[in-house]
Amino acid sequence: MSVPGPVIACHECDLIQREVPVPPGRVARCCRCGAELYRSAHKSIDHCFAFTLTAAVLFIVANAYPIVGLDLQGTRNDTTLLGAVQTLWSHKMWSVAALVFATTFLVPAVELTVMLHLLLALKLRQIPTGFAVIMRILQHVKPWGMVEVFMLGVLVALVKLTHFASVIPGLALWSFGALTLLFAAAASSFDSRDIWDRVSTRGTCSISGAPETAAARGLFSCHVCGLVSKAARTGGTAHCPRCSALLHYRKPDSVARAWALLIAAYIMYVPANLLPIMETGSLFGSQDDTIMSGVIYLWHSGSWDLALVVFIASIMVPLLKLIALTVLLISVQRRSVWQPVQRAKLYRIVEFVGRWSMLDVYVVTILAALVQIGSLATIKAGPAAVAFGAVVVLTMFAAMQFDPRLIWDPLQKERPEHE
Ligand SMILES: [Zn+2]
Ligand SMILES: [Zn+2]
Repeated sequence: MSVPGPVIACHECDLIQREVPVPPGRVARCCRCGAELYRSAHKSIDHCFAFTLTAAVLFIVANAYPIVGLDLQGTRNDTTLLGAVQTLWSHKMWSVAALVFATTFLVPAVELTVMLHLLLALKLRQIPTGFAVIMRILQHVKPWGMVEVFMLGVLVALVKLTHFASVIPGLALWSFGALTLLFAAAASSFDSRDIWDRVSTRGTCSISGAPETAAARGLFSCHVCGLVSKAARTGGTAHCPRCSALLHYRKPDSVARAWALLIAAYIMYVPANLLPIMETGSLFGSQDDTIMSGVIYLWHSGSWDLALVVFIASIMVPLLKLIALTVLLISVQRRSVWQPVQRAKLYRIVEFVGRWSMLDVYVVTILAALVQIGSLATIKAGPAAVAFGAVVVLTMFAAMQFDPRLIWDPLQKERPEHE
């Protein structure tokens, strides 16, 4: 008989399971909801360190050089990422400028710095300073890094520009392309569960009998470090014995908070689609473009594939996300037992696709930065960009507030008191 593995609780449905070793390159999934529980443990962190270090170097290059230049009748204009943010700021689009700055510069920079600090300490066999805090920061900022979406936005902007000027790809364009791949490689080799286990052990927790959720047994599953524990209670609140994060059986008031954010997102979705997202001024007058008219323009100019990409990312995805979250919230409120596996899949899709809706905001950012050619042509971001950014941020927060374990709770016979 082999020693039974440590106890874990599924982060999506709370079912208690035992860890079993998985072959390299494979993924262990929850036996009830199919969520990814963990990957095969990397025996070394060297790969991840190499990816992260290269990504950090490329990140500096990508921000030091222009992404793209525009040559129109001898007038040359090029822009860096921060230059584009600055243009938005000078056009009084403060919230959009802040959103673009945070998602394409600040978050990736924080992520890379923190990961390098962690991995370097681990390579030197030390416990990184401020370990628990750093792991929590990393978990919270991760969903907001959108380098890959920005990259697609730059490509769409380039295609739009090739119709009326010659476009000169800059060094940073290639760097951003490579950075996208390296970020993906670093993220897939960065195993926070493995890193937690390197720094502190999990101890043992005995389970027996029928499969149950952690909450049904009075156990907490930590959302930061994954430890399943009978938490130490001090003054009404429970804290994780390993990372000292605040513990709840379920996220408190998650349904009410998710509804509030979702309703706000529905409201913002209307101006996001009706108001102009881009204002073009030229010698021949000015023109306002909504998202839909931008799609139609792309379609008629022969780029039907890009028209499709923008249509799906900017119109279909936000709408489907709003509807999907509504379905999830209503079904959870009614304690429905209908198709839990399908609803769990829907939740995973919502979490995955949300970020791609930022596409049009990035397209406008790049266009506005490049097309500033005196009286010949100027492009400015329109009010819909603000509304659109708000829809993306609000739905992302709503999806984060939603507790997927609530999908599975009605299937459980007994339920403990809520925290
Ligand atoms: Zn599960
Ligand atoms: Zn913890």
